[in-house]
Amino acid sequence: MRLNQKIGLILVAALAVAFLILSWLVDARLRSGIDAASRDQLRDAAQLVVHGIGRQAFSDSLADRLAAGTAIRVTLIGRDGTVLGDSEVPAQRLPSVENHADRPEVRSALAGREGVASRPSQTVSLKLLYLALPHPLGVVRVSRSTGEQTSIVARTRGILAVGALLTLLLVFGLSRLVTNMLARALGGIRETAEAITAGDLSRRSRSTEPGELGALSRSIDDMADRIETVVADFRREKADLDALFESLEDGLAVLDDQQVVLRANRAFKEIVGRGDIEGERLTSLFRSAEVRRAADVAIAGNHVDLEAQRRERTLLVSGLPHGNGALLVLRDLTALRHLEGVRRDFVANVSHELKTPLTTVMGFAEPIADGNVGPDEASAFGRRILHAAQRMRRLVDDLLDLSRIETGSWRPVPEELDVGAAVREVWASLASGPERRRIRLVIEPEETLLAQADAGAFLQILRNLLENAARYAPDGSEIEVRAEKEASGLRVQITDSGPGIPPVHQERVFERFYRVDPARSREQGGTGLGLSIVKHLVKAQGGDVGIVSDIGAGTTVWFTIPVPSKATATTVVPKTEATSPEEEAPGV
Ligand code: ADP
Repeated sequence: MRLNQKIGLILVAALAVAFLILSWLVDARLRSGIDAASRDQLRDAAQLVVHGIGRQAFSDSLADRLAAGTAIRVTLIGRDGTVLGDSEVPAQRLPSVENHADRPEVRSALAGREGVASRPSQTVSLKLLYLALPHPLGVVRVSRSTGEQTSIVARTRGILAVGALLTLLLVFGLSRLVTNMLARALGGIRETAEAITAGDLSRRSRSTEPGELGALSRSIDDMADRIETVVADFRREKADLDALFESLEDGLAVLDDQQVVLRANRAFKEIVGRGDIEGERLTSLFRSAEVRRAADVAIAGNHVDLEAQRRERTLLVSGLPHGNGALLVLRDLTALRHLEGVRRDFVANVSHELKTPLTTVMGFAEPIADGNVGPDEASAFGRRILHAAQRMRRLVDDLLDLSRIETGSWRPVPEELDVGAAVREVWASLASGPERRRIRLVIEPEETLLAQADAGAFLQILRNLLENAARYAPDGSEIEVRAEKEASGLRVQITDSGPGIPPVHQERVFERFYRVDPARSREQGGTGLGLSIVKHLVKAQGGDVGIVSDIGAGTTVWFTIPVPSKATATTVVPKTEATSPEEEAPGV
């Protein structure tokens, strides 16, 4: 039921009750007033009748005369109650009229008092008000119909009812007017509140109305302001958390108590290998018992870390209790495990490389220390020790170079250099070995070729490649260095006619300590790091390196150095800084 209907109904009910009470009060008051007035009138009339009787005897004709021209009925009753005259009853019917001695008003009058009664008359069949006065001859009784009084009361009641009805209509109309005004004002407030509830947080009533309703509207506006701020803060925080959640390197998923994925980040989906996994059970995503066990333990309320395999990956699975469910964190340990392997291999390789020269040093140093060696022998032993130490020195130098390039502490500084001159400089610095073995160097083109490259790195690359070529080239053969300028930069290739490298080894010779024939390499003073250093130096300058080799025909190692970009050129380090030990090219 709507508010205005409720108010209307309450008003109508209140008015109806008020009307009933009022009409009951008026009715009672009117009746008693009319009764008192009628009794007074009747008493006056009775006294007039007594006076009119005078000394006459009671008779029917006397009663008729006394009542003539009035609405009063006059009854004359003897001392024994016999009706001797009645203005309403013809004389011939009088003998059949019942004795009135026990009528209440007659009884009082016979006892010497005024008697009053009201009842329907048996004689004239009307409701009458009787008043009897004592008389020396008996009782004089006057009476009249109460019908008029009753009709006055009824009329008054009718007027009251009409008045009440009109008041009711008026009040009803007014109540409708007031409630409609109220409903209109409340309707605006309600619409605003409903719009805010439906999500339109910008909706306001902006009421300027005074009083309670205006205050209510403004309170709702204030409340909406507050909600809007809180929701905006909440959304911002949620966006931050979402971004954080998505950008995490570790896979993260929220599970419910049935191991159903409620939410998962990009990394988690990447590990699973599927995008839309929300709503799926963990069992349908992972076959690994460890992952499911971690979820079980976490759902049971405990923290757990387990290692699991998924395809090629090694995962660290952490389960954390979260609400009724769990948080599952997957950390990819593959790269870490690989690095651990590389480190292990590296340490093993370095130890192995150092072991042989160290054994040599100890083997020759011990007899010298014991004094068991003659001067000639001591000198030969010393040379062997020196040779082993040089080998260790070369190894340590190469390792330091590699480490400097790999840790990124070295940056190439491009400068203009003469390629042919650089090749000749390196060739001249090599041990006199090539010359002894009658190996010739051919540089193509013979003319000066200028190129942009980091001078120290360029010399180091040439040194490592020419050393290799000279090491494997047969006696009396030719080593060709061909340099050419291309649109993208400089390309240099060094060709020997040595034994060549079998195809299976060609890609791997750039790995650290990888050798096709380890014994021969070591014997010839190789560290197994030369090509690895070349590759790093070339890549650091944005170039590329490769090998073309035919078994028995020879080997060509080529590398490119692109034209330095403007950005690189502008970042050229000043000479003073470039020559500081940290910035210096490795091995130069
Ligand atoms: P090393 O110090 O042993 O020469 P490198 O990294 O320079 O180490 O070379 C790795 C391996 O590649 C060598 O051990 C050798 O087996 C092979 N190699 C490199 N250059 C040549 C070449 N010009 N001819 C034949 N084999 C070569």
